[in-house]
Amino acid sequence: MIDDLQHLEINALAELEQSTNEDQAQAVRTKYLGRKGLLTTLLRNIAQVPDDEKPLFGKRCNEAKDILSAKIDEVLLQQLLRKKSEGLLKEKIDVTIPGRIIKFGRVHPVIQIRREICAIFASFGFSIVEGPEVELDYYNFEALNIPKDHPARDMQDTFYIEENIVLRTHTSPVQVRIMEKIQPPVRILSPGRVYRRDSDVSHTPMFHQIEGLLVDKGVSFADLKGMLTAFLKKIFGMNTKLRFRPSFFPFTEPSAEVDIRCVMCGGSGCRVCGQSGWLEILGSGMVDPAVFHNVGYDSEEYTGFAFGLGLERIAMLKYGVSDIRLFFENDIRFLKQF
Ligand SMILES: [Zn+2]
Repeated sequence: MIDDLQHLEINALAELEQSTNEDQAQAVRTKYLGRKGLLTTLLRNIAQVPDDEKPLFGKRCNEAKDILSAKIDEVLLQQLLRKKSEGLLKEKIDVTIPGRIIKFGRVHPVIQIRREICAIFASFGFSIVEGPEVELDYYNFEALNIPKDHPARDMQDTFYIEENIVLRTHTSPVQVRIMEKIQPPVRILSPGRVYRRDSDVSHTPMFHQIEGLLVDKGVSFADLKGMLTAFLKKIFGMNTKLRFRPSFFPFTEPSAEVDIRCVMCGGSGCRVCGQSGWLEILGSGMVDPAVFHNVGYDSEEYTGFAFGLGLERIAMLKYGVSDIRLFFENDIRFLKQF
């Protein structure tokens, strides 16, 4: 029986040696140490051993069980560690692979200008207001003192949806809508998209305008001049020279175009300023009493001024862009520069 035990021990250890995974090692445990295992069965047959050998046999059997059990645990642990390190090897990071490039968006140059202008006028106490882009003929033209035969109403300039509905050609209708709702004092700035049937290097069918309106008691042309001068110096620099030229708009009287000294040539004359040394920047004027009449303001009591400018034009001059269409082609290489 002792010989049988030695054989079992040798075989068990040899099988364990050959096991390459957890299942095989556990199978050795079941085969020898399980309830019907070979070693268990051998110990169960101790009755057949002569009495004087029983203690030794029992002791040897238990020793063999302990040794085998410890050995199996050790093999299982080694297999587990090997499995882990193999997994880690597979998961290792290849630091030579190029990283993923995260692309950051940017604020569109036209929107940057819009935000800048809104911030300046907000500091002057203006509120930012918006209105519909599909507008009634009344608000786009009639209420602004633009008569039926005015050239601005020409089919060449205006997108008509229906006879009395247009895509707004300027942001001025917002001024009328606000004046209908509130009483003076009024200080509003309305930025937004406007539409005209026009397309070349300096015109697109859709572009952005900002218009401002200030109405109060005792507002004069000097206030208009002071505020617009302060605004343009903030946008183009404190040394910017400007001039006010008499002009005509149906909704203001008197009216003035405001020019700045050419930012490209400094006034000596170039292609951008058409050799004049000056750049047309915005239109402005004192609100025509006829407009006040249309919204129910008393033009004897209140006066006001209004102004409007195209955002793309400001962005073109400020950033030195020669073709307005570049703003809308959405070429990332172009937009990344701002
Ligand atoms: Zn110039």
